[in-house]
Amino acid sequence: MTIDPKPARVRFAPSPTGRLHLGGARTALYNYLLARQSGGTFIWRLEDTDQKRFDPTSEGEIKSGLEWLGISWDEGVDIGGPDAPYRQSERKALYQEVAQKLVENDSAYPCFCTPKRLAELRQDQQKARQPVRYDGLCRSIPPERAEARVKQGESHVIRFKIPAEGSITVRDRLRGDITVENRNLDDYIIVKSDGLALYHLAAITDDHEMGITHVLRSSEWLPTLPLHAHIYRAMGWQEPEWVHLSVFLKPTGKGKMSKREASEVQKGGHSIYITDLKDLGFLPEAVVNWMALMGWSYDDKTEFFTLPDLVEKFDLDRLNPSPAAINFSKFDHFNGLHIRTLTVEDLADRLVPFFEAAGFPVDLELLRKIVPIIQERIVTLDDGPQIAGFFFQESVSPDAEDLIAKKLTREESQAVLLESHQVLAALPDFGVETTEAAMRGLVERLGLQAGQVFSILRVAVTGQKISPPLFETMESVGREAVLERVEA
Ligand code: GLU
Repeated sequence: MTIDPKPARVRFAPSPTGRLHLGGARTALYNYLLARQSGGTFIWRLEDTDQKRFDPTSEGEIKSGLEWLGISWDEGVDIGGPDAPYRQSERKALYQEVAQKLVENDSAYPCFCTPKRLAELRQDQQKARQPVRYDGLCRSIPPERAEARVKQGESHVIRFKIPAEGSITVRDRLRGDITVENRNLDDYIIVKSDGLALYHLAAITDDHEMGITHVLRSSEWLPTLPLHAHIYRAMGWQEPEWVHLSVFLKPTGKGKMSKREASEVQKGGHSIYITDLKDLGFLPEAVVNWMALMGWSYDDKTEFFTLPDLVEKFDLDRLNPSPAAINFSKFDHFNGLHIRTLTVEDLADRLVPFFEAAGFPVDLELLRKIVPIIQERIVTLDDGPQIAGFFFQESVSPDAEDLIAKKLTREESQAVLLESHQVLAALPDFGVETTEAAMRGLVERLGLQAGQVFSILRVAVTGQKISPPLFETMESVGREAVLERVEA
């Protein structure tokens, strides 16, 4: 295992354009793990240069999502820090300065082409089936002339001047050297005509200014990596270590999930949005465990990890660059695993809001008694009220049909209940062993199958066909209520 020796200074830099989803949260997680493991710093920065796509609820969603997952930051948007502000909209002057320097050292230039000319250029290129990119018309304007036009207030953008010849090679930690011919790169706009920096310039400037040592981000950024490296090199800045993470594919493994498909997922009780997972009854521990393994592995067998385990064991060199299909059944499995490791008190506390949301007034003491009999059976916290809500009801109202056991008539089933009542009412105590022995005795006496008798009793006591183990359940419901319900 290779641990990067230097304390890493890393950042999670989402754009506030929507909700925190699995992909973003995993990027945050890996950055966090690297920072904690190396005794470094994890920064939360907000890349809000794109005002058109700005979503005012996004920042709060990102923050509560990260907090719920237990991913904490040392500097950032809300808490400040030595490199504050951490919101790009508040750092505009800095980007202007860098753009100016790039123009001065001949790595960027003002471009006066009108939107009309650019649209025509694009059309011509599309018609000729050529790649759509700027043709470099304004590159040849002598710098003094360009400066004079800028001073006169002529509308312009600033473009990065990609070298006309040669190539650029950038090293990605997971993918090795990536070489791109400069002639295949566009002279990207880095400052818009309103003077605002675009994402590329802002992100690179911030990464440099904030001393970022490793950039762990989605591999969707690979196409612009050459531009980013060009900006670094043009400024004479030291590049961070680039780590482009695998992308997530939909469960079928074919392509990325669309917005519409993401809401389809919801119908199956899952979601790709972090705050939804909380409401659906997933544990943050399970989300973290599952996400960590979508793109990273420790060995071929270990699959259970807590956040502290991951801090200890995470290793950049065991990241997998290949796309990972989102596997929700694996997720359910992890949620079950983590539910089983909770203490009774902890699980009970986490179940309370789910019982309340389902309309069951919770008695915490009783809930703690019930937890041990449902802990092995629930997949999500949401399952709790479904299988054990009846414990908190005064009475249950079973479906008459459900009270009829397989291969028995209505009358026979009723007789079984009457017999059961007599047997149970005569017992000295209501402990599991006592009730179970007595009921098994009855099964034998009646010459029936245990399943037939127990299912009738289960429905009578719980109101449902599926419940926690019958005798444990009866003990918790209590003698009086059990007899009342059988009688009813
Ligand atoms: N703002 C970019 C995003 O939301 C971050 C890209 C990066 O980490 O460099 O994807």
